[in-house]
Amino acid sequence: MSFEPTASRPVHKFGGASLADGACIRRVGALLAERAAERPIAVVSAIEGVTTLLDRLARAAAQGEVDLNPIRVRHRSVLSQLGLDPEMLNRHFAELSTLLEAVRRSGALNGEGRDHVLSFGERASARIVAAHLTSRGLRALPIDAYDLGLVSDSNHGRAQVLPNSAERVRSALASIDGIPVITGFVAQDSSGRLTTLGRNGSDLSASLIGAAIGASEVRFWKEVGGVMTADPKFVADARVLRRLSYDDATELTFHGAGVLHADAVQPLASARIPGRVVCVRDPSDEGTLVCDGARADRPIGVACRRGLAWIRLAGAPNLRALVQAALERTGVEALTIDERSGGLELVAPWSDELARALVLLATHTTIERELAGVAAIGVVDEARIVEGLNVAGIAVRARWHSGARASFVLAVAEVDLARAANCVHALLFEGTFVEGSSR
Ligand code: ASP
Ligand code: MG
Repeated sequence: MSFEPTASRPVHKFGGASLADGACIRRVGALLAERAAERPIAVVSAIEGVTTLLDRLARAAAQGEVDLNPIRVRHRSVLSQLGLDPEMLNRHFAELSTLLEAVRRSGALNGEGRDHVLSFGERASARIVAAHLTSRGLRALPIDAYDLGLVSDSNHGRAQVLPNSAERVRSALASIDGIPVITGFVAQDSSGRLTTLGRNGSDLSASLIGAAIGASEVRFWKEVGGVMTADPKFVADARVLRRLSYDDATELTFHGAGVLHADAVQPLASARIPGRVVCVRDPSDEGTLVCDGARADRPIGVACRRGLAWIRLAGAPNLRALVQAALERTGVEALTIDERSGGLELVAPWSDELARALVLLATHTTIERELAGVAAIGVVDEARIVEGLNVAGIAVRARWHSGARASFVLAVAEVDLARAANCVHALLFEGTFVEGSSR
């Protein structure tokens, strides 16, 4: 095939749910085959559930138990569903086995060991997808992102890719013929140790690679029809947003809209590359375009986040500085911190480690767990939301403004989350025009 080497290419990102089994991977193969003339670049997550499974195996190894079977069976069954050689990944399983044995012998799992174990998910799926494309008669090559030159800091489990990676990635990809199938989620530090970018980080990998090569578009293939006004799992009336500015998409994902990784928009915005969130089940649908543009001057949607805790500390001097230090030590980011009636109140993702640190700081500590944050994104009527939740009998534990846009966020009990999300969604859009359509 002849091509214009400098023409910009699209990046297609496939998440674990889109690679769950042989049938799903065939669908991915078909999507890429139809677009082969555009010289697509694929970025893949691990097969659905595999990263969590690997995490469990790594922890079990540190406790003295090594059992590779679940991971071997999972991949072998996908390989046979695709008519590929079920022994194809044996070399990888052998490496994983050696690694887990080492963890078992040392009786401890550090961040470096965990990242190495987790990397097998993406390394395996990239090989499976590339082998499937090859079996369809396409030229394809599995590539580990670190072999492309994706170098990160050494912050295991939540590594940040270094900006100077872009040039290496660009030139490495320019010399590859066929469809590169690149591992999402993984990188390596400057000493060659494997790192991971944080759970669900493959979206971020795709954006970084897209930005590095000046992609024509980064297309995030999902199980839903695009970025929606709320999570359709909670809100049946949620609608697909057809177009979102980078700023509004950043705000939605920052507050927990799980459809895209919260850091995945920034690289696109900096490089001015359009992102598109589309549904694997309905490839002709245009989904959501994330692009340059002004922030919307109307309500955009509701973003939710579970697993929060409200914490109040009192009875000690200098609390703010002490709490700040505890947050930094434990790597937890508080969503809001407020000095109130002689004490300090904060809302943060629940962390055992943080809670243990905080109870040592003050004479009185109150902790309330199992809370959820409901953020109203865009230009919204805050008084109406507070009043509406009150009328619906939903207790609001705390409320604050945060994010680049200072969005309005309310903490409610997790058991009230679906009701609260529906209520806020209805208050935002009732009687107003909702852009988009039901899926
Ligand atoms: N496989 C990784 C995870 O499950 C990364 C990703 O899916 O994006 O977190
Ligand atoms: Mg995943």
